[in-house]
Amino acid sequence: MDDNASLRARREAAVARGVATAAPFFIARAENSELWDTEGRRYIDFAGGIAVLNTGHRHPRVLAALAKQLECFTHSAFQVVAYESYVRLAERLNGIAPISGPVKSVFFSTGAEALENAVKIARVATGRSALICFGGAFHGRSFMTMAMTGKVVPYKAGFGPLPAEVYHVPFPSALHGVSVADSVVAIERLFRADVDPRRVAAIVIEPVQGEGGFYPAPPELLLELRAICDEHGILLVADEVQTGFARTGKWFGMHHHSVEPDLMTCAKSLAAGLPLSGVIGRAAVMDAPAPGGLGGTYGGNPLAIAAAHAVLDIILSEQLIERANVLGARLRTRLEALQRRVPALAEVRGQGAMVAVELMRGAEPDADAARTIQRRALDQGLLLLTCGNYGNVIRFLFPLTISDELFDEALGILEAAVSG
Ligand code: PMP
Repeated sequence: MDDNASLRARREAAVARGVATAAPFFIARAENSELWDTEGRRYIDFAGGIAVLNTGHRHPRVLAALAKQLECFTHSAFQVVAYESYVRLAERLNGIAPISGPVKSVFFSTGAEALENAVKIARVATGRSALICFGGAFHGRSFMTMAMTGKVVPYKAGFGPLPAEVYHVPFPSALHGVSVADSVVAIERLFRADVDPRRVAAIVIEPVQGEGGFYPAPPELLLELRAICDEHGILLVADEVQTGFARTGKWFGMHHHSVEPDLMTCAKSLAAGLPLSGVIGRAAVMDAPAPGGLGGTYGGNPLAIAAAHAVLDIILSEQLIERANVLGARLRTRLEALQRRVPALAEVRGQGAMVAVELMRGAEPDADAARTIQRRALDQGLLLLTCGNYGNVIRFLFPLTISDELFDEALGILEAAVSG
């Protein structure tokens, strides 16, 4: 039987519960911004496989690129036999990254793997080991990225011991009373109380904190971080895994800032659902590890690379950067209008199409309200994701290729779900 209830029962019996699932149904097929479950029910996809589908499900150009690559080869391991498409993707990303001077890239499979390797590169380049990250950050589920992630439950609890020398400072949020000055003072305090700045290899920051609640990093924070890094010889690493590839209304989140990172990580929407991640950075830093020090059997898999080229082409030809700004503005206008009627919508924020709304009951985060809206929307066929340190934020990660009609339909469902 393929009904959702029996599939859920089989899943419960056969799959470890540690991997949790937001939706109560099983997917059968998908097309651009819609997906259908095994019982034939249709949903508008405002989750995008957690920020992976900026170019939608099964974009014809991605499918064509994959079909073409399947005709040639599916794997050689770049470390054994190289292929031109990998080099060309590095060239393209080096050209797009907001880093001046010579830039180099290297590819892996997952976001966490990109972060792991950014840390490896930063450590060799600086000869230092410590890291400064932010409370509420999410960098992955591997051991180093778990340590870097700024949320204990459910990501770290019980999994220790974690790698040492990872320090957290608060991420600014006006709503929660944390200013840029608070973050900077916390770093200065770290340097006095916990770690010699000459031991710090990198400060790692998401340009818009993703899982933590879609908080855009204020430009003054990046300016301060760059100055701290320059003063102490620390590298600035931008984790662009969730912010990349037109989501924020620019190619990368760091394109909103006047300062440059030394290293960037990317993944998710880079390859439209094929597992591909990358580290992009200043060539002198990227070349610090010796040959053989970086890599992985599947890193830069040729099918994933082919998909990534198609993604970059689609972003350009369908003007998805402009589209992200248009759709994001429409969503924000709608949410801000709702805010005037529904006081629980405490803050509407974001950058481009990386938009979220945070729910509060007075001064208290209201995760129940977020879950209720999510469930009501799902009942009406709109798939939404929550996020936030308190689980009280609804985030919107629709494909940027969504049609106006579907987008309007989704906003109608959202409005009804919020209004109750
Ligand atoms: N960094 C950020 C900013 C992310 O949002 C995520 C995933 N949500 C990761 C790293 C980890 O990526 P992955 O799940 O592919 O390992």
